[in-house]
Amino acid sequence: MARRRQLYEGKAKILFEGPEPGTLVQYFKDDATAFNAQKRGTITGKGVLNNRISEYLMQRLGEIGIPTHFIRRLNMREQLVREVEIIPLEVVVRNVAAGSLATRLGIQEGTRLPRSIIEYYYKNDALQDPMVSEEHITAFGWASTHDLDDIVQLTLRVNDFLSGLFLGVGITLVDFKLEFGRLWENDEMRIVLADEISPDNCRLWDAKTGEKMDKDRFRRDLGKVEEGYQEVARRLGILPEAGIRDLKGPEVMQ
Ligand code: UDP
Repeated sequence: MARRRQLYEGKAKILFEGPEPGTLVQYFKDDATAFNAQKRGTITGKGVLNNRISEYLMQRLGEIGIPTHFIRRLNMREQLVREVEIIPLEVVVRNVAAGSLATRLGIQEGTRLPRSIIEYYYKNDALQDPMVSEEHITAFGWASTHDLDDIVQLTLRVNDFLSGLFLGVGITLVDFKLEFGRLWENDEMRIVLADEISPDNCRLWDAKTGEKMDKDRFRRDLGKVEEGYQEVARRLGILPEAGIRDLKGPEVMQ
């Protein structure tokens, strides 16, 4: 296969130029970071699992009419996506108090919130992704009020759907982070779901025992990190057929 041009390398993914204009290839790495990249590590097989989990969730969301950047999975570690203009926001939805919300507001982790709460963070590594309000977002032109209306509508639908989907396999969707992008088709602009949805950016707890099956196992040194990601894939019915031996995948092409 021809060498592709690398466009961007993030903490957990690499973006390559896609085979056709307007497409990109997302390569999922095993690298993991936490606490604004102060903690770094590798979770063996994470990239393969996240590629599958994100493919599965994006497809299910597509089926209920949520527009996404996902086109198709190419191989163990890569998926083809539409090139979008990323809106520089991390949109966090919370159903249960955990992480920074629990710490900041002094709410016991695990407390069910009175209703789902959406928060926005400005995507900026140098500033450590500060929390921002709608006022900041519209004043600085990161998104318009109309864009934000679309983002909130989509986010709430994604939350409702994924909460039900995960509950069906015995998992509580505690919180998660979404990213959106602008996609132009002719002269029309649409906001679409982008990035990935995986245990890297969701908190997923066993509905009965509360056991964590997400990146908190890495962040908090809880051990059995790979097993947590595998369990999510297993419950969703998408663990690679050959099991753990299948998890190495091809080498990244530079
Ligand atoms: N999250 C993420 N990327 C970030 C920050 C948060 O994907 O840069 C996700 C995180 O996995 C969790 C949710 O957003 O599911 C809420 O995270 P929180 O604000 O509690 O921050 P944390 O405690 O993870 O630092």
